[in-house]
Amino acid sequence: MYHPQNRISTRSMKRRDFLWLASVSTLGLVSGCAVNPVTGERQFMLMSESGEISLDQKHSPHQFSADYGEVQDSNLNSYLDRKGKDLAAITHRPDMPYSFRCVNATNVNAYAFPGGSIATTRGILLEMENEAELDALLGHEIAHVNARHTAARMSRAIMAQALLAGASLYLESQQEDYAAVAAGLGAVATGALLASYSRANEREADELGMQYMTDAGMNPQGMVGLMDVLQGVNSRKPSAIERMFSTHPMSQERYDTARYRAENEYAHARDFPVHRERYMDNTADLRRMRGAIEDMQEGEEHMGRQRFHEAEDSFSRALSQAPEDYAALVLMSKCQLALNRPQRARNFSDRAVRVYPQEAQAHHISGVAAMDLGRYDAALEGFRRYEDMLPGNPNTIFLKAVCLEGMGRKSDSAGEYERFLHSSGAGEKADYARKRLQEWGYMDSSDE
Ligand SMILES: [Zn+2]
Repeated sequence: MYHPQNRISTRSMKRRDFLWLASVSTLGLVSGCAVNPVTGERQFMLMSESGEISLDQKHSPHQFSADYGEVQDSNLNSYLDRKGKDLAAITHRPDMPYSFRCVNATNVNAYAFPGGSIATTRGILLEMENEAELDALLGHEIAHVNARHTAARMSRAIMAQALLAGASLYLESQQEDYAAVAAGLGAVATGALLASYSRANEREADELGMQYMTDAGMNPQGMVGLMDVLQGVNSRKPSAIERMFSTHPMSQERYDTARYRAENEYAHARDFPVHRERYMDNTADLRRMRGAIEDMQEGEEHMGRQRFHEAEDSFSRALSQAPEDYAALVLMSKCQLALNRPQRARNFSDRAVRVYPQEAQAHHISGVAAMDLGRYDAALEGFRRYEDMLPGNPNTIFLKAVCLEGMGRKSDSAGEYERFLHSSGAGEKADYARKRLQEWGYMDSSDE
C-alpha cells in the first residue's frame, strides 16, 4: 500500500523538477545572448520571451493552488490587479501579460513568475500599512520580471546541466514541505522556478522597485517601510517569513540602502503621498480576519515541526473565528491526515470543497483521505476533479493508478501507471509502477 505521508513523493518530485527543467530547453530556446531590457547590456540568455510566458502559464496555477488559490474577495484581487498593472505600465517591459492577485496563504510572502504572474499572500498584506509599501513590494516583484532574473538563472542552470550531464545540484536547494507531502501533492512543482534569487538580483529589484514606485508618484519611504516591516516580522515570527527569506533574502543592508536612497537620490519625492487610508479601506475585510490568520500561521509552524496536536488546536481556534475560511479548512484537513484520522480529514476537505469548489487543492486532499479510508471510487473522483482543474501533476496520476488498482481495474490502472512513467521516469514510485506493469504483462522486464 502506498502511504501518502511517505517521503518518496518528495524525492520523486525532485526528479520530476529535473525532468521539467530539462524539458525547458526545448520550450523557448533562443541563441545564447539577449539584450537585458533594464540595463541594455547583453546577457547570457537561453530563454525567449514566449518561453518565459509559457513557463509561467504552465507553472503559476500550481503555485497559486498550493497557496490555497486566490482570495475569494474579488474587491481585494481587483484592487491589487489595478495597482500592479498601473505600476507595470511604466516599467521597462510594459507589454508583459501581468496579473496580480492575493492568495489565501497566510505566510509572509510575495513572488513573481517570469511571464508576469505575481502574487502576494494574505500574511504580507496584513503586515503593510499603506499603498507606498504595497507599491514598493509590487515594484520589487515587477522588477524581477523586468530584469529577467528567473530566465537568466534558468539559462545558467540549463547550461550547467548540459555541461555536467544531468547534474541535479540545482535542485538540492529545494525544501521539503511537509504539508504538501501529507496532501499527496509532492513538493510544489514550481520550487525550482522560485528558488532563491542572488543577492545581486535582490539589490537590483530593490533599486528598480524604488524607481518604479516613485515614477508612479509614491513616496519612496514606502520601500523603507517595507524593509522595516519585513525585518520586524522576522524578529517577531521568523517561521512565517521563512519562505519569503528563501525567495527574498533580507538584510540590514537592504534597509539601509533603501533609507539612503530615499533621503538622497529620491529626496525630491519626500513629499509624495503614501496613501494610508486607501490601503486601509481596501484591506479592511482582510484585517478583520487578523486573529484567524495569526492562528493559521501558528498552526503551520507547528505542522512544520510535526507537532500535529498543537497544530490542530491552532487550526481549531482559526476555524472558530472563521468557520468558512478555505485555507483554514484545508490546513485542518492536512493536519488530520497527518494525525492519521482520514475520516475527519475528509470532513474538513469536503467543507473546503463546498466553500470554494473552483479551487483544486481540497479535491486532491479529499481524494487522499478517501484513499486512506479504502474508498477508491471516491478517491478517484477527487483526483479526477483535481486533474481537470490542474493537469500535469505526476503524483495525482500515480494516486489514480493506485486507486484503480485497488478497485481491481487492472487495465485502467496500467494506463495510468504508463502515463505516470511518461511524466516521471525515476524514483520509488516509478519503480513501483514499472513493477506492476511488468507483473501484469504490460511491460517487458527488458523495457527498462
Ligand atoms: Zn526579490
